[in-house]
Amino acid sequence: MDRFVKLPMPCNKILATYVWIDGSGINLRNKDKILTCTPYTPEAAPDWAFDGSSTGQATTDNSDTILKPCAIYRDPFRMEPHMLILCEVYAGDGKPVATNNRKFCNDLCEFHKAEEPWFGLEQEYTMLDVDGWGLGWPKGGGFPAVKYEFSYCGVGAKYVAGRDIVECHAKACLYAGCDFEGTNAEVMFSSWEWQIGTTVGIKAPDDLWISRYIMSRVAESYGVDITYHPKPMGPKHPGLGMHHNFSTKKMRSDGGYKFIEECIKKLETNHLKHMKHYSTDELGNRMRLSGKFETAPFDKFSWGIANRKVSIRIQRSVKEKGRGFLEDRRPSGDCDPYLVCGLLLETCLGPAGR
Ligand code: ADP
Ligand code: MN
Ligand code: MN
Ligand code: MN
Ligand code: MN
Repeated sequence: MDRFVKLPMPCNKILATYVWIDGSGINLRNKDKILTCTPYTPEAAPDWAFDGSSTGQATTDNSDTILKPCAIYRDPFRMEPHMLILCEVYAGDGKPVATNNRKFCNDLCEFHKAEEPWFGLEQEYTMLDVDGWGLGWPKGGGFPAVKYEFSYCGVGAKYVAGRDIVECHAKACLYAGCDFEGTNAEVMFSSWEWQIGTTVGIKAPDDLWISRYIMSRVAESYGVDITYHPKPMGPKHPGLGMHHNFSTKKMRSDGGYKFIEECIKKLETNHLKHMKHYSTDELGNRMRLSGKFETAPFDKFSWGIANRKVSIRIQRSVKEKGRGFLEDRRPSGDCDPYLVCGLLLETCLGPAGR
């Protein structure tokens, strides 16, 4: 394929891959448009339309659905000048479709801009063979030969599977322009994590979504499927989450610890409201937040310092310095970070203004 990737293109042709979240709220779709010049801002990329009835986003008799570019990345598969165009989805009547939560998040980011919200997102995920069973797990329902504690940050084929995909994904995300921060192998065999951060405002969930797209594309070229399911191998095996680390200018300033405590109180009051929006599969997240495998129970809010069995964890160094950030450990691996970041802003700082 490399031969074709390297073919010179006519000077006025570039390929733009439009990427959007489909009606499932977790899967991504893409299609390509040839443009005559490279768009370096979302405004420079034209709106486009697609058949929303084939993606669970419209009915067949009213199917023209609109893609509005919202963030631009360099295409790591074809390389610059070709681009990835992350899009918001709007129905024919101009209203955002049900799975378009970006506007909700962006309005809050804009309204609270002076507070300089920072996010750090830890995306955990699992690699599956195309038959749906864990990558490298014994066929016929078998389990990995090693105990889980050896797979976390593990080295060696007995402990981890799929490292080439992790490696390609990291390089591709950095090339694309994501604030890509790091990776590690997770507790369960064939599951891993990457981090986006520390990033200001809406760029964090934008980068997270495009990095999910890049992950699916890299894995696809290896014949591997990616799942963000919170409990892909059932209740007896570890779960996968997306911890959201969050801070504001006030939290990061001297005496910020007091404000962090105030925010935690508000998060406690709004616990169940947040839980409703912290997964595309609430039952799956309930299974994950069992109180086992470094989680706190789904229904009960808790917080603590250096404690991983809580809803909100404060790192020891934050308590010691008296300022810093909080870690929300509740969101599921398959959450929509637009919803989680938006809710953190809304609950801690207040709704977007009139
Ligand atoms: P752990 O697995 O122990 O929770 P990670 O290193 O995977 O730790 O994640 C820590 C996250 O905290 C990173 O994503 C980082 O961007 C984020 N972070 C660090 N400082 C801040 C801050 N001041 N505001 C928001 N997020 C932060
Ligand atoms: Mn057609
Ligand atoms: Mn982590
Ligand atoms: Mn982790
Ligand atoms: Mn974490």
